[in-house]
Order: sequence, then structure tokens, then C-alpha cells
Amino acid sequence: MSRKVTDKAVENRPARHSRIVIVGSGFSGLGMAIRLRQQGRNDFLVLERGHDVGGTWRDNTYPGAACDVPSHLYSYSFALNPEWTRSFSKQPEIQQYIQGVADKYGVRDRHIFGCDMTGAQWNEAASRWDIQTSQGPFTADILISAVGALCEPNLPDIKGINEFQGEIFHSARWNHDADLTGKRVAVIGTGASAIQIVPSIAKQVAKLDVYQRTAPWLLPRGDRPYTLPERLAFKHIPGAQALSRAAIYAVRETQVVGLAKFPPAMKALEAVARAKLRIEVRDPELRKKVTPNFSIGCKRMLISNEYYPALSRDNVDVVTDGIKEVRAGSVVTKDGTEREVDAIVVATGFHVTDSPMYETISGRDGRTLAEVFEHSGQQGYKGSTIHNYPNMFFLLGPNVGLGHTSMVYMIESQINYIADAVQTIDKQGLRTVEVRQDAQDEYNTELQGKLTGSVWNTGGCASWYLDKHGNNTTLWPDFTFRFRSLLETFDIAAYETTAKAS
Ligand code: NAP
Repeated sequence: MSRKVTDKAVENRPARHSRIVIVGSGFSGLGMAIRLRQQGRNDFLVLERGHDVGGTWRDNTYPGAACDVPSHLYSYSFALNPEWTRSFSKQPEIQQYIQGVADKYGVRDRHIFGCDMTGAQWNEAASRWDIQTSQGPFTADILISAVGALCEPNLPDIKGINEFQGEIFHSARWNHDADLTGKRVAVIGTGASAIQIVPSIAKQVAKLDVYQRTAPWLLPRGDRPYTLPERLAFKHIPGAQALSRAAIYAVRETQVVGLAKFPPAMKALEAVARAKLRIEVRDPELRKKVTPNFSIGCKRMLISNEYYPALSRDNVDVVTDGIKEVRAGSVVTKDGTEREVDAIVVATGFHVTDSPMYETISGRDGRTLAEVFEHSGQQGYKGSTIHNYPNMFFLLGPNVGLGHTSMVYMIESQINYIADAVQTIDKQGLRTVEVRQDAQDEYNTELQGKLTGSVWNTGGCASWYLDKHGNNTTLWPDFTFRFRSLLETFDIAAYETTAKAS
């Protein structure tokens, strides 16, 4: 969400009221809209700053973009897709799936596209949210944030980067008009996005410098096209797809044991990753450079069969000396080496624990989320509500993230909870619901207790999972089925409520 100043004519439009406003239409916002429609509701709007549904899958169109979770699991449980062409789908197929779901469930008419929320304040007197957008003001009794964690590109603060004269763009804002063929290109970052970009452009460019700050752990990618008999089975044999989905889910869930509960168990996976490194990187000097120095799982584990072979190419260099500055036509490292480049791809991730959106949402006491989180770090209740923000729900709020399995599973758990909350509010004639501070505190004490021994907290790395206080405010520290059961019904006892005036 950008903090654009809207022009006066737009600002002065009369506010449009909707009982429920959802912000964002990626997997989470779209899924929420569909559930509300299934409840028979028409009293909601989805404000989406882009011009289509899809969120991160609409925006990340970089070469090689694909999902690390098999599609039969990385899809809505209510909209299984027998047509997936391969086990790990690429971005265009996922985006097409999301668009198809939006059409099938008929919720596009509740969307306002090109509508960027620039701020929202709780209006205590009127018990509603006042919302500013690039298309004028809105008001809502219930506000649902579905903006996701991976939506605001994190641009590195490197001296001189704004003075670079060649093509420069972030991985999530790929400039398809820039032809990299035969160019000298720098990629900054070696995370999940970069390791897909590097092999996809390595053959096409003249020279590729990969600027690595921390070497990631890589595991094999078991990707393959589905055979025709498999696809026919998914389509025609009842339960075949559900069975495949359940098997993927079960296998992936076993990783929770090592990641969250008993990190020494990760050693087995680390042995696999070390073997892969030995086999795929023959040059000892390069191998040394790309050998990680932290426990596997501490940062997101990456999967690729193409990244190491790409790094081993003659036209690719891994640069580990640290960037000192960017000049008009070059990148200079701390050892004083200057490397000329025509284009820079910035694959440096997203603002996760410091989302700019937090500065624009003010709660009951007037404080913004950024102000509240400044001291406590981002904290919520079941990832779905936050004290001081009445009648507001969060999809993909604090500590809902995962590295090992499908976020769509977590999203659907939250949709269950929020949908039940909305029905409870209606049935009980409530004016406001706000999670109690003590319920939120108790929840977070337990959550942080579970995280203490996890590999994310103890594995010896710095990652975007941790905030500036060193707290892990992004990840769910347990089996995902526990999250599902925790959010099965809206637990109103944890909330302060007020009734509508009769
Ligand atoms: P990321 O994982 O945050 O990686 C950012 C990379 O940029 C890291 O290597 C980081 O180094 C480096 N970096 C950041 N700031 C830098 C600076 N100032 N100078 C030099 N290097 C810098 O971001 P991402 O790769 O975009 O992935 C983000 C998340 O998106 C993933 O964790 C995943 O959840 C999701 N994703 C998923 C897929 C998939 O399913 N295949 C693909 C792409 C993204 P350090 O490690 O030293 O911080």
C-alpha cells in the first residue's frame, strides 16, 4: 500500500458505506470474499489496489517465478483443480487458477480495482472505520485486512543506488520492457526469488554478478509434469486429488518436528543439502562461498535443481565482498572492486515486520499500528485480531507465517474464524468486538515460549522472521492442524463487546 496523497476532488467525494470492507484480493482476501458470498452476504466490498485479483501471484512475474509448495496443496480446499500441469506450478498457472476461482464464485462484482487504501481510523463515536483510498473515502462497520506480508518491496539502502543510470527494478516489479539479452546484469540477494531468477536469466545475459550477503540452504526440487494418466485420475477418480493433497500435507507437516520442536532433527535434511552442494558445485572455491553458516531451516529452506548449476557457469560470478556503493554504471564492493553493469535486479525481499501500512491504521486510542508495534513488536491474537483495533480482522496477521507448507491452509483457517466472528456479531446484535489485552498477552506468552527453542530463533541466522527486537513475530510455531482447530470457532469470551443500541 502506498501512502499517496489523493487529490482534493477525490478526498471530498462523499464516503461510501459498506457493512464489511476487505482490503486486498490475493489468496486471502479473495477467499474471504467467497466465504462471505457463500454465507449469503452481499454487504461487503473488496478494495484492491491492483487491476486484478491474485496479489503476490499477480505481482511476481519475474522469470522463473514458481511455487515451492505442490499445487494440489497450494490451492483452496473448496476449489481443487485437477488441471494442474505439474507438481510445482509456475506463476502464470497459479495466477490463472486464482482468476478462474474469482470468476467461478462470482465475486468480482464486489471488487473495486485500482483502489489503494491510504489510511483507516477507528471512529469511536460512530463505531465504524473511516477509510481513505485513491478512489475517495469509504466507511465500514467491519474492516478486514488481507494485504499479505509479501507485498511491499524492501529496497536496499545502498549508497548511490538512486543514481544508477541503467535498468533497475525489484523482483516483484519486474520490468518486462527491459531486454536483458546480452547485458551485464547484477542480482542483489540470494533468497527464494533470486534463486529462481538467476538460472532463468543466466544463459540469456552476457555477464551475471550475484551479490550474496548470506548463502542459503538448498534442497532438491521434486518438480515434474503430471502424466496424462495422473491428470485423468485427478479428474475422474473420486478422491484421487484429495488423497494426493493429504499425502503432500502429511509429509510436509513432519518438518514441524525439526523446525519448531527439536532442531537437532534438522541434521538429516542438512546432510541432504550438503550432499547436493558437493555434487552440484564442483569448484571448491565456489563451494566454500555458497556454503551456509547457520543451521538449515533457520532461514527459509530453498528448493532448486538449477541454481547451483547456474552459479557454476563461466558467465556467472558470486560476489560476497559486500556492496559499498552503486555508481551510474557499476557496483563497487567493499574491497574496492568496481564491476560495470547495464542492469540491476533487486531481489531483496519485502517489508514484513515493518510494513508501511502499519503507519496508516489508527485504532481506538488514536495510535497507529506502527506506534503500537514500535515497543511490543507485532503482536496479535490468533493472527486475526489486535487489541485497540475494534471490529478489525487480519488475514495473515502476526505469527501466521510458515516456511514448510501451504499458506492457503493457514488462510482458510483464518477465514473460518473471521466468517464465524462476523456471523456471531450479527446474531448477537453486537456493535463492537475487540480482543481483550489479557487474552492477547496470554496468547503471545505461550506462542513466544514455543518459539524459544525453534530453529528460527536458535539456528544462528538473521532473517525476516525476526523483528528489530529479535522476536519472532511472523511464524506459527506448531503443527498447522493445531492452528486450524484453534480457529475453528470465534471464541467471543476472549473479546470485549458492546451491544447495538436497541
Ligand atoms: P528474501 O527471502 O527476504 O531474500 C532477500 C535476499 O536479499 C536475501 O538474500 C538477503 O540477504 C538479501 N538482501 C536484503 N537486503 C540486502 C542488502 N541491503 N544488501 C544485500 N543483500 C540484501 O526475499 P525473497 O527472495 O523475495 O523471498 C521472500 C519470501 O517470499 C520468501 O521467504 C517466500 O516466503 C516468498 N517466496 C516464495 C517463493 C516460492 O514459493 N518459490 C518464491 C519467491 C518468494 P540476507 O539473507 O543476508 O538477509
